[in-house]
Amino acid sequence: MARFCWKLTLLLLAFSLFMPQVLFNRVEANHLQLVEPEIDQKFSVPVHKNDQTDQRSSKKLREKQIVSLGQLNRKYPETFIIHGPRLMQVALTFDDVPDPRFTPQILDVLANEKVKATFFVIGSRAQQHPRMVSRIAREGHIIGNHSYNHPQFHKVPLSAYQQQINRTEQIIDGIIGYKPALIRPPYGDITEPQLRWAKQTGYTVVNWNVDSLDWKGLNKEAVKKNIMNTAGQGSIILQHGGGGTGSDLSGTIAALPDIIRQLKKKGYTFVTLPEMLNIKKNK
Ligand SMILES: [Zn+2]
Repeated sequence: MARFCWKLTLLLLAFSLFMPQVLFNRVEANHLQLVEPEIDQKFSVPVHKNDQTDQRSSKKLREKQIVSLGQLNRKYPETFIIHGPRLMQVALTFDDVPDPRFTPQILDVLANEKVKATFFVIGSRAQQHPRMVSRIAREGHIIGNHSYNHPQFHKVPLSAYQQQINRTEQIIDGIIGYKPALIRPPYGDITEPQLRWAKQTGYTVVNWNVDSLDWKGLNKEAVKKNIMNTAGQGSIILQHGGGGTGSDLSGTIAALPDIIRQLKKKGYTFVTLPEMLNIKKNK
């Protein structure tokens, strides 16, 4: 009997030691299951059609980046944003502007629908088309920094990344009179030291959680479907207002009125990123 009690005590001891671990792991696993798919599925790194080199190296890169970008989002939740608060608000964002082929048409639609959006400007393009940048700001939209010539940030040293941001900032400031507080890294790609510098110097880095994939030259229905299927409370929607040689954003432009009207009908209001995130548009 004493021997049995001794064995039972050992068994209970082992159970009490290991059970919390088992339970904890299970909670962690459930937590990860809730969090990871949202970030991994929606937070893809787009590879633009005009950049063949990036397409070739993209698969390995994407696998590495998805994990690290998700981790960065959790580590720097105030600086590295993927979506806004869960309110009945959405933010339209247009990258790679200005582009005389597409940006003015997007501005026309937004003016017609009385919606304000956020435009991420490429410095070298702003130099070529300063009046288009003025128009974006004059019509009440917000301007953010999208680098000087669209490199993949993880491939450039910290100093070159800083130059990309600073040079573009000076160009934008010279045109519209403020230094944007928002950065969107090309392809959504940024390293931890680069993000830390952005945080220290007062920027907010904003990616997206709804990807139109419009850079692929999709038609109106495909662009609409990509957005309407995933847009929800606090969504930051990625579209493009400019592209490379041969880019076709006619699907983006054609889909825009329907997207705006349908989301309004569902009760969403359209806000700029500074409104959504309750931050200043300038540094
Ligand atoms: Zn871009």
